[in-house]
Amino acid sequence: MLNIDHTRPVMVTGATGYVAGWIVKRLLEAGVTVHAPVRHPGDAGKIAHLQALAANSPGSIRFFRADLLEPGSYAQAMAGCSIVFHTASPFTLDVRDPQKELVDPARLGTRNVLETACNTASVRRVVLTSSCAAIYGDNADVWNAPGQILTEDIWNSSSSLEHVPYSYSKTVAEREAWEIAARQSRWGLVVINPSLVIGPGINPHATSESFKLMQQLGNGRMKAGVPDIGLGAVDVRDLAEAHLRAAYLPEAKGRYIISGHNTSLPAMARTLLPTYQAYPIPRRILPKWLVWLVAPLADKSTTRKFVARNVGYAWQADNGKSIRELKMQYRPLAASAQDMFQQLIDSRQLPQP
Ligand code: NAP
Repeated sequence: MLNIDHTRPVMVTGATGYVAGWIVKRLLEAGVTVHAPVRHPGDAGKIAHLQALAANSPGSIRFFRADLLEPGSYAQAMAGCSIVFHTASPFTLDVRDPQKELVDPARLGTRNVLETACNTASVRRVVLTSSCAAIYGDNADVWNAPGQILTEDIWNSSSSLEHVPYSYSKTVAEREAWEIAARQSRWGLVVINPSLVIGPGINPHATSESFKLMQQLGNGRMKAGVPDIGLGAVDVRDLAEAHLRAAYLPEAKGRYIISGHNTSLPAMARTLLPTYQAYPIPRRILPKWLVWLVAPLADKSTTRKFVARNVGYAWQADNGKSIRELKMQYRPLAASAQDMFQQLIDSRQLPQP
């Protein structure tokens, strides 16, 4: 049983988001006071679900106004906190200006939050939500990794502003975090590197790219088939558990790949078929040449270079460090995919079949 200190408040950035929702829920259930700096504390639609959670939990939540791009804006929320969970970072693939929309909020936001931690005497640990995207850029990189398996020792060196800029934003942000952490000794940095996160959201209407992907598996957009893209997947509830262990286990240290399953897009779709046969879930694998030809026309964020370096490659990561040191247990892939799909149906984000 994890020993969660509920005597000191903690700060969670990006509390309105998909991943942070479950972290906040777990903290509130453990009786912790959560400081939640958000961009729009007056926007009831964004925070009502968190207020409802707090009302039914022993813990409490306080909202503050802050923005990743406003230096110093996290100081008030961080005052008195022992732990900082820094999850806020845009997770979107459809961008016009990757520098402004992805890299600046990721890197400058990390700098902003972690430099505030340097100036806040109460902070002892920072848990940063990075990504497996900071470990690899394309699946071709997995092919070239030692033993063709990703580990915490590897860094993404193939992404750039022009190619998979989201992964580039996560890479430069995590590098920035390690640099700032190394300049001081009061707080320790523990980094969580999740693969694709799936499972139901605390707020079913989150903007996270995770929801768009699962929606496309059920709304007919991929009915003709899916590309054979290997990927890792982890349940959002398991990911919240990993964040709590990273925060409260004194021995937690370094980076942790948090990924329950080495899988693929077609395999993930297959987990839905037994229960949701009536939906236009993709049943076929599209040939790579066809994806190469058509994908950039259908979706401008999918380039031919992306198709060439990702389709037809398996994805493998070693989650052993998380199991050994954080004692992680991962739930079955089908449970996560089905719970999320069902939530999309219940919240009317998937049309009736
Ligand atoms: P999400 O639901 O879109 O959450 C992103 C959060 O970041 C939101 O709370 C958003 O606040 C906040 N944010 C964005 N720009 C901001 C800014 N300029 N100032 C302050 N807050 C800002 O996405 P998510 O999937 O939960 O992602 C959370 C973290 O997990 C990210 O660091 C992401 O890179 C990482 N991650 C996600 C996955 C995945 O598959 N979902 C996988 C690996 C890593 P608003 O509500 O105000 O927009």
